[in-house]
Amino acid sequence: MSSLPLVGHLIGGKSVTTGSRAQDVFNPATGKAEKRVLLADKATVEQAITNAQAAFPAWRNTPPLKRARVMGNLKVLLEKHADEICHMITAEHGKVLSDAMGELQRGIENVEYASYAPELLKGEHSKNVGPAIDSWSEFQALGVTAGITPFNFPAMVPLWMWPMAVACGNCFILKPSERDPTSTLRIAELALEAGLPPGVLNVVNGDKEAVDTLLTDPRVKAVSFVGSTPIAEYIYTEGCKHGKRVQALGGAKNHAVVMPDADVPNAVNALMGAAFGSCGERCMAIPLVVAVGDATADAVIAGLKAEIAKMTVGSGFDAKSDMGPLVTKPHFEKVKGYVDQGVAEGATLLVDGRGVKVAGHEDGYFLAPCLFDNVKPGMKIYQEEIFGPVLGVVRVKTLQEAMDLIDAHEYGNGTCIFTRDGEAARYFTDNILVGMVGVNVPLPVPVAYHSFGGWKRSLFGDLHAYGPDAVRFYTKRKTITQRWPSAGVREGTVFSFPSSK
Ligand code: NAD
Repeated sequence: MSSLPLVGHLIGGKSVTTGSRAQDVFNPATGKAEKRVLLADKATVEQAITNAQAAFPAWRNTPPLKRARVMGNLKVLLEKHADEICHMITAEHGKVLSDAMGELQRGIENVEYASYAPELLKGEHSKNVGPAIDSWSEFQALGVTAGITPFNFPAMVPLWMWPMAVACGNCFILKPSERDPTSTLRIAELALEAGLPPGVLNVVNGDKEAVDTLLTDPRVKAVSFVGSTPIAEYIYTEGCKHGKRVQALGGAKNHAVVMPDADVPNAVNALMGAAFGSCGERCMAIPLVVAVGDATADAVIAGLKAEIAKMTVGSGFDAKSDMGPLVTKPHFEKVKGYVDQGVAEGATLLVDGRGVKVAGHEDGYFLAPCLFDNVKPGMKIYQEEIFGPVLGVVRVKTLQEAMDLIDAHEYGNGTCIFTRDGEAARYFTDNILVGMVGVNVPLPVPVAYHSFGGWKRSLFGDLHAYGPDAVRFYTKRKTITQRWPSAGVREGTVFSFPSSK
């Protein structure tokens, strides 16, 4: 029996710590297992669904304003407990504390937006659509909904999902990443403290067994997923096959185009944060710079090399660190393997971050920034999502060549262009086949009141995450047509199709 603290589930408002399967949760800065997380079996997930189903009738009929007030209370609690939550994130994910604060703040903004649900749920009403006939549409909760989330934003991505789902009157089962589950669970406990009735939000930790139960149980009406593309595709296919509404956000390979007229020092600063912030473990990270013209490429590379030389890699708890470790040992090995592969494929490794040692953290999963020049389509380091601190420069001659590359890539999550030319920027934003586009903005992650989603194999489904699309995703439209005939007036029989002719 391990003596490590156990991370369990939250079901029906109670902590559940029974179950036979569990796995270690590591501190990536030290390489040590510090906790064990329970992996829910089918019966445990079914217990969560039963609790959610039982809580649904009363919660659905709770006035929207009262539901929204819980979100207001939660916002206050999240702000109060921000330090505690961010320490949990850094201890399991590895990202630097200031970055954890940024993710939590973005999550809080989603909670804030969910507190506007009464306004967002207002239906549409038309009077006199026919003789004494009125018609309206309303948006009704679906029932039990579920979310499956990735490791890289353990606070923010769950907060993209369940606050709006429950504010719309649904109950929710959340299956966080088993690699860094503690902050996610803590936030759910705070939701209870904020006044969410037991059973409205349940958290089950686990792996494929838990996910497959959510995908197949007929009581679950909708599933939101964020994670890698192969799993997103699986979730979408399986969920749809079982009659569920599914949105599945997948991986990315975001290109930043730098035009010859760009403000290069500005672009370099922006690229540094976008490529190496959170150790490159962001779906909106920039792993590829497409430089238009050799002079642009040379200037950008010179700037990047100078800035990388100033970076400090270390524990996320150390205020001097700009970048922490990668999340797990296998992920560290995988990212390092891509760097080896890039060299073997013939790209020019200008800055080699392999072999970095952080004093006092010799067993941590640290990889310092790596910079490649002469990356070409067809190379694995161009084609595949690396999800680490590896930035590649691709040299092209024209903006159109850059855009053709981006359009041909299987992913279409985010992209950006650095330029001072409004015409070029407009042509780019109008035509590029990508869901989220920045102009001189490297991480164009939409704010909470716009929706988030990529194109192509970065998203399976029709509606994007959070923002207005979330209200539509977590509700179904019902349209009611009503006539109250005047007293004593009886309608004649009509066999033709009713119309306003
Ligand atoms: P992942 O796909 O490995 O895991 C995501 C979730 O799926 C986890 O909860 C995990 O337990 C579950 N899962 C894993 N394997 C499964 C299987 N075989 N069957 C059923 N469920 C399974 O992703 P990750 O490594 O945690 O996160 C990184 C990935 O997420 C990257 O690809 C990144 O681009 C992507 N991501 C995308 C967005 C977006 O909005 N598009 C945002 C954040 C992260």
